[in-house]
Amino acid sequence: MRPRIGITSWHHEEGGERWEYVPEPYSRATAQAGGLPLILPTIHVGAAFKPAPTLDELLDAVDGLLFTGGEDIHPSFYGEPIEERCGRIDQDRDHFELELAQAALDRQIPIVGICRGIQLLNVVLGGSLYQDLSYRPGTLPYHHSSREKRYTLIHKVNLQPESHLAKVFGRSAFDVTSTHHQLLKDVAPPLKAVAFSDDGVVEGVEAENYPFLLAVQWHPERMIRKHPEQLALFQALIQAASSRRERRGPSGSY
Ligand code: MN
Repeated sequence: MRPRIGITSWHHEEGGERWEYVPEPYSRATAQAGGLPLILPTIHVGAAFKPAPTLDELLDAVDGLLFTGGEDIHPSFYGEPIEERCGRIDQDRDHFELELAQAALDRQIPIVGICRGIQLLNVVLGGSLYQDLSYRPGTLPYHHSSREKRYTLIHKVNLQPESHLAKVFGRSAFDVTSTHHQLLKDVAPPLKAVAFSDDGVVEGVEAENYPFLLAVQWHPERMIRKHPEQLALFQALIQAASSRRERRGPSGSY
């Protein structure tokens, strides 16, 4: 069986209903790399039904996690007031994903974070964010490209050659898409910044002393069609998830 990869979702309210969804490139990339993509609803937050599924039940059902892009994280989670240029926030999603990430880290589940995902992992581990790129001196505005350019390569990233991330991609520099307006400020100590843009923005982190955690600020899932080497991040996640699954055995227990 393919390793099961839980993918975090967006939600909004429409016509009195709650909609939960992900952009298709995340699940396509996961499947293309050999994983079974499973979209995770933000079920246990304010769930209208009782008893809501628990995080343990949810984590029993996956072998790896993909934290996707999305809204800004409420600054209260890193101890700051909301500043003027902070963007849209979904606090239900924040609560769910921060609890999910902490529980997954406790279980040492393989994790990849993308865009909001790198920010979320930094925050849950005690790091902080710039609420807008204009708040970090020297940051160039191109990181926040328009929706029409979300598949366009915007800027270069430089990866530390000895990093896990560079080994996964098999190279230490390439051009990437970029649609983020927030960025990492203080990088939480368990994480190590290993990829940077030329203007010094943290574009990639990895965790030391953890089985598998890689996170990037760009969008590899959108690049795969034209730049298939970006699939390597998903393949690495699926390989780690597969190894973990084998260690757990057929019963799913440890
Ligand atoms: Mn960028």
